[in-house]
Amino acid sequence: MTTTSPAAERAARARAARRQLATDGIDGVVFGWVDNAGLTRVKSVPLAQLEHAAEFGVGSVPVYDLVLVDDSVTTSPSSTGPVGDLRLVPDLDRLTPLAAQPGWAWAPADRYAQDGTPHPGCQRGFARRAAEAVERRGLSVRAGIEVEWVVADATGAPATDGPANGMTSFVELSDYLRDVLRALTEQGLSVLQLHPEYATGQFEVSIAAEGPVGAADTTMLVRHTIRAVSARHGLRVSYAPVFTEGAIGNGGHLHLSLWRHGQNLGQGGPGRHGLHPEAEQFLAGVLTELPALLALGAPGVASYLRLVPAHFAGAYRCWGLENREAALRLIAGSASGQANAELKCFDAAANPYLAIGSVLAAGLAGLDAGLPLPPETPNDPAALDGAERLPASLPEAVDAYEKSAVLRQALGRELYEAVLAVRRAEVELFAARTDAEVIEAVRWRY
Ligand code: GLU
Ligand code: MG
Repeated sequence: MTTTSPAAERAARARAARRQLATDGIDGVVFGWVDNAGLTRVKSVPLAQLEHAAEFGVGSVPVYDLVLVDDSVTTSPSSTGPVGDLRLVPDLDRLTPLAAQPGWAWAPADRYAQDGTPHPGCQRGFARRAAEAVERRGLSVRAGIEVEWVVADATGAPATDGPANGMTSFVELSDYLRDVLRALTEQGLSVLQLHPEYATGQFEVSIAAEGPVGAADTTMLVRHTIRAVSARHGLRVSYAPVFTEGAIGNGGHLHLSLWRHGQNLGQGGPGRHGLHPEAEQFLAGVLTELPALLALGAPGVASYLRLVPAHFAGAYRCWGLENREAALRLIAGSASGQANAELKCFDAAANPYLAIGSVLAAGLAGLDAGLPLPPETPNDPAALDGAERLPASLPEAVDAYEKSAVLRQALGRELYEAVLAVRRAEVELFAARTDAEVIEAVRWRY
């Protein structure tokens, strides 16, 4: 019997994929990954190098674990700083020709050490470990992140000023939206909805739920695709938490459902609104860790300019059926199997791998401890005495993160400390700036 190493297997798969891609007119492949600040970074190779890149990876600087939203670099006790190298290895399962960038294909990448062992700071690896921990309990999770963005013209002003959810925006940008829809669909993504959102020039797309790592990959691909389509129309995209001071921001709502043996544990159970005990405990775990989770799901100083009451952002630590001001909105779903929970407090600056992985870790901690789900908040929490606001600033979220044994354990020392270092450094970076200056500084970064 012959055994092949994972690297040799990847090379063999890349060889087969290369032939198909050549037939499809692909010249090069871009490898994407998302850093701790929430920015997507890429490297690319010509098609002829795909096999080599799949086998050995391409060089990737570890210092990107410590890069901030403005590309400045901080330090962390467990990272090697400017020394060393990592290997960026494409996941060929998600190799996708890019509809809006003819000649290019894309793949999400994992980061490995030079000896072939997984890099402990790899965010995608973390999400995969979290998903595996769910599977070890005989469960599975289906997830999806809604992508919201503001589209602007070349001057940086919103490309339409139609009313919220309005036909005006939809008609004025009709060809653009068709091209977004077409590109996503051509890339094999299952689009559920596409529509103008509340804020001026804001749109939203949602994609069918899938496994946790796949959902994070899809989020990266969707954002990349929208950006590429926008560029072809001479438009710019902002995924920043806030585009205009005081206005509704760009959320990155995370939808989750927990399953056992093909059954959605969010419906048909004995608990509130049909929740099964495991789903209640899972949600209780998420609510318990929510202030700390915000350091991952609402990662920037600007995130807290979005996360305020009456902004559909879920600024209160509570849950409720169809309650859009609760951080955790329970959705009954109109069809069987569709019940899910929506974490509304996360925004579009979040690294989707960190966001999803950490929520899974928090949910599992709740499940393992058999945590009870607190009483439901059926109305707008702003109108209630004693409703608990989520952290109102990044330093508050970082305090909670520092106290979270669950996240420390799940992320592992190196990733946990790198995230902490980046968050603290961004707090410092923006300490002397006004809200307007913070918004301005990050508007086009994510
Ligand atoms: N844009 C809102 C946010 O910042 C969400 C609007 C909605 O989809 O309910 O989260
Ligand atoms: Mg929305």
